[in-house]
Order: sequence, then C-alpha cells, then structure tokens
Amino acid sequence: MTEKKQIRAIKGTRDILPPDSALWNWFERSAREVFETYGFRDIRLPIFEQTDLFARSIGADTDVVGKEMYTFEDRDDSSISLRPEATASVARAYIEHGMHTLPGNVKLYYMGPMFRRERPQKGRYRQFYQVGAEILGQSDAPAIDAEALEMLMVLFERVGLAQTKLYVNSIGCKDCRPKYVELLREELRNVKDKLGADSQRRIETNPLRVLDSKLPEEQSIIEELPRISDHLCEACRQHFATLQQELSLRGIAYEQNWRLVRGLDYYTRTTFEVTAAGLGSQNAVCGGGRYDGLVELLGGHPTKGIGFAIGTDRVILSLQEGEKRLSMPGLAVFVAWMNSATYPTAVKIARTLRDAGFSVELLPEEMKFKKSLGLADRLGARYVLIIGEDEVASGNFTLKRLSDREQKKFSDSALIEYLQLEGRGSGA
Ligand code: AMP
Repeated sequence: MTEKKQIRAIKGTRDILPPDSALWNWFERSAREVFETYGFRDIRLPIFEQTDLFARSIGADTDVVGKEMYTFEDRDDSSISLRPEATASVARAYIEHGMHTLPGNVKLYYMGPMFRRERPQKGRYRQFYQVGAEILGQSDAPAIDAEALEMLMVLFERVGLAQTKLYVNSIGCKDCRPKYVELLREELRNVKDKLGADSQRRIETNPLRVLDSKLPEEQSIIEELPRISDHLCEACRQHFATLQQELSLRGIAYEQNWRLVRGLDYYTRTTFEVTAAGLGSQNAVCGGGRYDGLVELLGGHPTKGIGFAIGTDRVILSLQEGEKRLSMPGLAVFVAWMNSATYPTAVKIARTLRDAGFSVELLPEEMKFKKSLGLADRLGARYVLIIGEDEVASGNFTLKRLSDREQKKFSDSALIEYLQLEGRGSGA
C-alpha cells in the first residue's frame, strides 16, 4: 500500500471549528447590529484586486505592500493581489459606483478574510479576519471621527471585551506632516548609530515608522524625539482638540499616544488603536484613522474619509482568554424510529418540527432503541421523540425529556405547542 501524504492547512491559515465558530458568528452578528444602529450598511467586496490598487493607496514602500502581499500573475499577465486590507477596495468601489452623488455621508461596513505574509504567531496569521467600517463624504468634522470611535467602543462593550484601551493621535496633514517628517529624519540621522538595523533603514524610507519600534534599547532615544503634536498646523491642531472634546462629550475614555503613526501611507490627522486583555505582544484589536486624500489619490473626486478595521481573530482570542463561552442552542429533539414501517412517519414529523424552528436529528438508518438513546445523550439532545408502531397507529408520540427521563404522550400539534412552551421556559 502506498503511503498517502496528508494535506494540511497552509502555514498561517487555520480552520475555525464549532463550537468556536458560534462565538465568531455571534461577534459578527453583534457588529452588524451595532453598526446598523449608527446607519452603516454592508458592502461585499472582492477578495482579490489589481495589485496597483494596494501599491497606490497603502504605499509601495510599506511592509504590507512591499513584503507581505500575496501577489500573482493572472493568465492574461495582469498582476493580482489577495487583499491585505479592505479600505482601498471600499475607496475603489466608492469611485466606481459614483457614490459621491449619494446624500450625506456614505457609511459602509464589511467583514471577511485578509491576507498578509507575516511571520505567524499567537494573534498573527497569514489569513486573518477583519470587521471594518468606513465613512466617506464631503465633511471632515471631528464629530464624524468621534462617532466612529463611539460605535467601536459600544461594540467592544456590548461583547464584553476586557480591559480595552483606546489610544488616539493626530499625524497632521499634507501641509504640516512633511515638515515634521523632515525634522524627525534630521534628528534620527543624529542618533543613527544608536539605532537598530530596521530603524536605520526607516530613517530614509519611512521615519515615522521608527516611532512604532518596540526594541527596548531604542525607547529612551525615541522619547527624546520631536513630537508631532508640537508641529501640527493650526487647522490640524484645532481638529484634534475638537475631537478630544467630542470624545469627552460622549463619555469615551481615551489616552493620547504621540507615537501612534500606523503603518499605512494614506492616513491623515486622526489615527487610533484599541488594545485588549489576554493577547501578549499582538494586543491591538483595532486600528484606524482618517484618510482624506485617498479617494482622490485613486482618481476620484476630493473626498474625506475615516474608518477602522477590527482584527476578529484577536477579539475572539481575547474573549476566550476571558472564559467567554456561548451557551450553544444545541440539539432539541432526537427522533428515534423503530423499523422501516415507522420511518415515513419519522421523516414527516422531523420535517414538521424543523419547520417550527427546532433543531432535529433524524437517524438515517435503523438502530437499536437502546443504542439510539445513548447516541441522543452523547449528542446533547434535550428530548427523544420515540416513534414505534403503537405511536404510528395511535397518532400519539412519546416524548422523553433526557434531563430527568420523564415521558409524556402527545399528538403532533400538542407536541409542538409543548416544545415551544418548554423552550421559552428554558430560555432556548
Ligand atoms: P491594520 O489593517 O494593519 O490597521 O490592522 C487592523 C487590525 O487587524 C489590527 O489591530 C489587528 O487586530 C488585525 N490584524 C492585522 N494584521 C493581522 C494578522 N496578520 N493576523 C491577525 N490579525 C491582524
């Protein structure tokens, strides 16, 4: 016999199995519910796009585009990439469908897989999932940023995410940021010898990213660097001050973090990040910010924008570390039939119960009654419906409650009524 090599999931990807998948679905459902109360609507986007979309928007010099994208040539030689994030796709769709003509702000949310070829570890995968929201339109009022943050924190509170911390910053605009970046670069050149290889390289390619560094030996040097808050233009300074007032008005706790610059090129002014408990070094559960020039950069009308992306994998990990478990709705009724003469009745009644919304297991082949009772127990069924020849003849079925083994007889209409009442009583 030839040994068959077992095929496994690709490194950095994983299967999300029940019962975990129930927690995922519940979190995504909660996000939909909360987002819809804030007037957001679902947008479904392609998982792959022209490589150029990401190169132009996220920035060809960023790690995400330069090192981490899954890029391949299509059969017509065009270059295609699996999406590393979805804001660029939302902006593309906004332009492609002329959404700038829609009234008010366009508020969209999405959820789905993203792909980055990073080094896998706890909380970091090559296929990971995001739930995101974007607001596009003509206004850049700080109230829009604040409302997005309120919605985000309402969702985290609703699902019981522990020890969430919101960090906010402003990274200025195209008028003030370049001057600050130049100043930062000069200061960094002065201390270049004391920095690690990554930071040394970033002095020239993307000096803001040096501020992201987690290297212990660089921390005291970074603390001495010029801070963007001292170099914002008047309009950006005012925008950031108003944002902070708006957050206080809404009772949202936050901390200012001047080093929060985010890795993607398209951000302007407001940037933010949320961290949560139980995640170790990968503790950011959400990142986002304002991207006022993005739509124009992609060839659209001048448009303001702000949004965020939640890392669903990490939210779930954090919830699970906090012992969050869902009580699964589970199997309601196991239909045990005795022989081929009773089978047609069992098929019919299983269908009737399912139509009434109960989760039903119907044996696909004959099984000894004792054995099927054991299986019902192991499957966690709440009831066994026994369909023997007597039951078929009389039209009355025996329902056995597995928790206390109590048995009762019902006609099929009385049976549904009884189960519905019982279900309500147990909160199922
Ligand atoms: P970003 O799109 O880089 O701003 O990331 C937004 C959020 O997505 C982060 O705060 C993480 O929660 C999550 N995230 C980003 N990259 C990964 C990854 N490789 N694996 C798991 N989650 C990720």
